[in-house]
Amino acid sequence: MNELKEETMKKVVIIGSGIAGATTAFYLKDRAEVTILCKEKKTASNSMFAQGGVAAVLQDSDSEASHVYDTLSAGVFRNHKKAVEKMIHEGPKVIQELIAEGMVFDADANGQLAMGLEGAHSHKRVLHAGGDQTGRHLTSFIHSKLSAVKWIEHALAIDFVVTSGKVVGLNYLDDKNQRQTIFADYFVLATGGVGHLFAYTSNHRSITGDGLAMALRAGCQLSDMEFLQFHPSLLDGGEDIHPILISEAVRGAGARLVDETDRPIMVGYSNKLDLAPRDVVSRVVYDNIQAGHQIYLDISTVAHFTQQFPSISAYLEKNEIPFKQTQRIPIQPGMHFLMGGVKTDFSGQTNLQSLYAVGEVAFTGVHGANRLASNSLLEGLSFAKSVAEAIHQASHPTSLNIVSEQLVQKSAGLRLPERAELVAQTSASLGIIRKPAEIQAFLDWLAQYQYRVLDQSCTDRQQIETANLCLVAEQIAQAALRRKESLGAHYMIMEEEV
Ligand SMILES: Cc1cc2nc3c(=O)[nH]c(=O)nc-3n(C[C@H](O)[C@H](O)[C@H](O)COP(=O)(O)OP(=O)(O)OC[C@H]3O[C@@H](n4cnc5c(N)ncnc54)[C@H](O)[C@@H]3O)c2cc1C
Repeated sequence: MNELKEETMKKVVIIGSGIAGATTAFYLKDRAEVTILCKEKKTASNSMFAQGGVAAVLQDSDSEASHVYDTLSAGVFRNHKKAVEKMIHEGPKVIQELIAEGMVFDADANGQLAMGLEGAHSHKRVLHAGGDQTGRHLTSFIHSKLSAVKWIEHALAIDFVVTSGKVVGLNYLDDKNQRQTIFADYFVLATGGVGHLFAYTSNHRSITGDGLAMALRAGCQLSDMEFLQFHPSLLDGGEDIHPILISEAVRGAGARLVDETDRPIMVGYSNKLDLAPRDVVSRVVYDNIQAGHQIYLDISTVAHFTQQFPSISAYLEKNEIPFKQTQRIPIQPGMHFLMGGVKTDFSGQTNLQSLYAVGEVAFTGVHGANRLASNSLLEGLSFAKSVAEAIHQASHPTSLNIVSEQLVQKSAGLRLPERAELVAQTSASLGIIRKPAEIQAFLDWLAQYQYRVLDQSCTDRQQIETANLCLVAEQIAQAALRRKESLGAHYMIMEEEV
């Protein structure tokens, strides 16, 4: 009986251990043979960094229509409304199911779920776990439920094996840097965004656009790649200190953005001052830094800062940032979130058979031109369940006879820029403020390199990541050039305005 069960179980390989990959595995775990492959340890992801929380309509005083409106409004109505409605309707059910399995979210004095208010949300609807450690608590909880899943850690996914429009295998480098190929019935890309394409980013170091580049090389379509969200306030502690996010909640608690002379920099830009939309604040901070100012968060008016923000305080202390004495935290804006990605339908299906994409790497249209805070954990949870359901319901695939020649890709060899130079170029031309001539100059510079095809001989992780970053940068630049007008997070200054 067991043998029969094993024989008929679908084999699923998930690439990425963040909220999207882990939740897909959670909903597949008893119904398929699941392997999760991830680049570093399973704890290495942006999901583990998420401080703010997860948005969900769980109270009668709130409504799905209101959350939908706030999401569309933040996305400048470029969102796919049906995708937004689906996420907002189905996400809370996933949260309830996780609670039923034992997930603990922060509660108020009455033992009810504590719902926080965040910028651009018109109701209190943001759940937290462990205060400012929501992502860590949520992702670790889901990992703890995956005992039946096989993990392959320290494995760098490189490319899919595709035959006749169907993904049948995955080439990767194992923990000994040996090339391996794994075959399965279904593959799920959950590799996150593109943070490390930029010099300054809140993202985990493993987030280098790999999944987007793999999907593109395999024949997938990408969409909305020009829409990148830059967060206004990352710690500016110097080169050797990871620029953690100093969340909006700190400004929500009363902190103000000031320059070295104590001038409040947001005056005159928005009546919401320091709580203006992220893209507006990012541009003002960026402009001030370009003009030679050092920008700080003045926390002198925030009551009990260390109690309110224990994780941020601990990190600042560990890295000897003298915030207690100065009552200031040095910040600068940085790359935070990708709204575009690999085009999928509502069940996460890409245009290639047997390949799904979910989470930040995927484009379902939920975020439009700018993401509403705390909606990305929700996206990961809700769409992961849809991916799992789609795989579960799909008819069992017929096995393909794969011959070894189909695994070999030929390339003329790589010719790559230094990573630091690439990152400097993208930061200058594809960042917070863009100009068509600078984007075109970047594409002209990139054209001297060869990065489109990775051949079988390449086992250098740095090179593979750099080639992926080049390919993704090209996509962003082309998308940004196509969109002449500013929209949401894409801010373009046309020549005549310069
Ligand atoms: C500092 C910070 C704070 C945030 N706060 C919030 C918040 O409060 N609320 C909210 O909703 N969102 C927040 N976000 C956004 C949110 O955390 C992410 O969008 C979301 O977690 C993405 O989940 P994911 O599973 O798609 O990708 P990730 O969590 O980024 O996981 C990607 C996984 O893929 C792996 N991987 C990548 N490339 C490869 C490869 N080639 N081979 C193998 N494995 C690979 C990575 O190592 C990782 O395991 C925050 C993001 C950051 C960076």
